[in-house]
Amino acid sequence: MAEDPRDWEIETRAVRGGMMRTGYGEISEALFLTQSFAYDDAASADARFAGDAPGFIYQRFGNPTTQMFEDRLALLEGAEQCRATASGMAAVHLALMGLLKAGDHLVAGRALFGSCRWIVSNWLPRYGIETTYVDATDLDAWKAAVRPNTRAFLVESPANPLLEVTAIGAVAEIAHAAGAKLVVDNVFATPIFQKPLALGADVVVYSATKHIDGQGRVLGGAILGGAELMTEAYKDMARHLGPALSPFNAWVLLKGLETLELRVRRQTETAGKLADLIAAHAKVRKTIYPGRPDHPQAAIIANQMSGGGNVVAFDLGDRAAAWRFLDKLEIVDISNNLGDAKSMATHPCTTTHRSMPEAERLEIGLTEGWVRMSVGLEGAGDLGRDVSRALDAA
Ligand SMILES: *Cc1c(COP(=O)(O)O)cnc(C)c1O
Repeated sequence: MAEDPRDWEIETRAVRGGMMRTGYGEISEALFLTQSFAYDDAASADARFAGDAPGFIYQRFGNPTTQMFEDRLALLEGAEQCRATASGMAAVHLALMGLLKAGDHLVAGRALFGSCRWIVSNWLPRYGIETTYVDATDLDAWKAAVRPNTRAFLVESPANPLLEVTAIGAVAEIAHAAGAKLVVDNVFATPIFQKPLALGADVVVYSATKHIDGQGRVLGGAILGGAELMTEAYKDMARHLGPALSPFNAWVLLKGLETLELRVRRQTETAGKLADLIAAHAKVRKTIYPGRPDHPQAAIIANQMSGGGNVVAFDLGDRAAAWRFLDKLEIVDISNNLGDAKSMATHPCTTTHRSMPEAERLEIGLTEGWVRMSVGLEGAGDLGRDVSRALDAA
């Protein structure tokens, strides 16, 4: 009986899912740097364009290397379909634009990655799409925000930068009762620790730039969901608007998926140790880590996440202390990326969230003392020493 990759364990899917081997029998997936494809005869071109015969047409529509990445990520996520994009932002933008049109209304969790918040606040209104921001942890707020023209909900969980967690299943129910689709930005949880589609979400988006590459090289993104919605909402849009992922980047990300599970588990193990060390330090006012029992939404996390992830946030009181901490780090880099093999820490108020008005920052609890740290693959002992020394100096 033929193996069904959907029945494989996650480790097997990560390494072998989506593989399309050429006649050469290569072990590592082939990189097809080709824009177009030739047809045997005019009738074959006709059939392929009509959608009656399988095969590739043009890189903007699809490419074998890109498809291997899409199929592998879909298998990891447990999604029927995946569409790769050139960046995480292209994925978030398309995910929303494919569901919304002029006159529609969006409800969004107010704690979002900076550029996602920019799209919602500054871009969607140009197309006549209004948004209500809500405290994503407050189910009554989601319900109260619904209007007759609400067509989509957007939430990031855990959210950037303070790792607030939303009950995805409960929010999906509210969305569906309102006739809206729920889009979840699952970057922080990764496909390893959280499966929004299984919890009831309709669409999942990733910045593959983060853990999926995980080695600081390329940008990429992905939209995942059921086959019907993916076709209806995104197929033509992705072909004609041109957000296609480069096959070269797809190849890098495909190789990234092979080690995603290993890397994310190790990073998470180290993040758990560092979070405890940070929380116990006298200079730290508050620590937030989804793997700790004192996380404000610990009960929800226990229901929907199988690991805390690799990001820790902590409050050192004021900007001066946060900057002293960052400047004293010797191993951990000061950088705003996350999910990388190299650990990095950032001061959100003056970097990733500097364009957010102060009043809105305060609404999500982001004051000047907060530091966000993405834990990498270095030795936990070395990182612990580096972080302790920097905390002492803070
Ligand atoms: C990084 C990030 C994005 C944007 O992804 P890019 O690949 O940088 O375009 C979107 N959402 C979240 C949560 C992110 O961390």
